[in-house]
Amino acid sequence: MLAYLDHQASTPCDPAVLAAMAPWWSEHPANPSSRGHRPGLTAAAAVERARGQVAAALGGEPGWVVFTSGATEANNLALKGVAEAALERGEARRTLVSLATEHRAVLDPLRYLERHGFPLRLLPVDGGGLVALEALEAALTPDVLLLSVMAANNEIGVLQPIAAIARLCRRHGVLLHVDAAQAAGHIPLAMAELGVDLLSLSGHKVYGPKGVGALLVRPGLPLAAQIHGGGQEAGRRAGTVAVPLVVGLGEALERAVADREARAARLGALRDQLWSALEAIGGISRNGAAAPRLAHNLNVTVAGVDGAALHRLVRRSIAVSSGSACSQGSPSHVLAALGRSRAEAAASIRFGLGRGTTADEIELATTAVRDAVAQLRP
Ligand SMILES: *Cc1c(COP(=O)(O)O)cnc(C)c1O
Repeated sequence: MLAYLDHQASTPCDPAVLAAMAPWWSEHPANPSSRGHRPGLTAAAAVERARGQVAAALGGEPGWVVFTSGATEANNLALKGVAEAALERGEARRTLVSLATEHRAVLDPLRYLERHGFPLRLLPVDGGGLVALEALEAALTPDVLLLSVMAANNEIGVLQPIAAIARLCRRHGVLLHVDAAQAAGHIPLAMAELGVDLLSLSGHKVYGPKGVGALLVRPGLPLAAQIHGGGQEAGRRAGTVAVPLVVGLGEALERAVADREARAARLGALRDQLWSALEAIGGISRNGAAAPRLAHNLNVTVAGVDGAALHRLVRRSIAVSSGSACSQGSPSHVLAALGRSRAEAAASIRFGLGRGTTADEIELATTAVRDAVAQLRP
């Protein structure tokens, strides 16, 4: 048996989500932009229903939702779209601010913009992976256009204080973008209430299909389209809307919100069980603050073992990762930001529990690490 414990990299698509998507591949073939016939209107209605589901799950309005191919594209649209719109209107504010522990789908577009005239300020985090609000506020100088902060970290699961950060942004006239790929459907997140301007999410991190996501944009916020063509999504993202995928995204988010509390309670208990068992082995420490964090994430560093050897042994029985699935090969920049050395980062394991995770799988994971440690420590 191989236990899949890498739900931060991707979640299985819920069978009920698959069932909701099924009719939209062949049975209903029309393009939702074909408003001149009934099948087109039927497809458009399905897209609008999904838009409503996405908005409801994130505490926004349907008109704020721009469907994209995933969170990577949503982040690119948010960051480049805001920067380009600022350029077009001759805005004096140019500086972009973010955290050292952001996903590469935020850091790479920011570095791209830095090469194109938008100075970048990356803030450090404390040993627990959280940003200090005083340091953050000090960084929001009058030249700052936008701050991008993730709601939940994909490697270490810690939650940044988005409500307090949003208040600081308001006070200093700075736009706030939140990468919520790991948070949407997992923790309560109400965009309007929080005062977030732009929010990115992804289908496959929340038991939906891969290849779809969304950017929610506060109304009236100037955003330059990054993909030009047929003017879909109110001119903000051209290209035929992927009807089956957006139907799946809407369904997945609605279902994730519905079982969020029960799922977090169950997975939190399993995660705590896993941590107690690993802690008892000795020489294993947790990465990221104990709270606030996602209930289904645990990231640990195993002292006194070679990271490559550790992963070679544990991968026989558990599917886990040593960092982000998206930065293969290079050591984790997130663990480095917490002060971990290269060797420590390599000897780290990210456990991502999910809806299907069982107590037996947690037992298997514990045994896998215990056996590997016994074999590798002198
Ligand atoms: C997975 C992930 C992304 C990228 O999402 P895709 O939909 O796979 O492009 C971006 N940010 C975070 C925090 C993620 O976890």
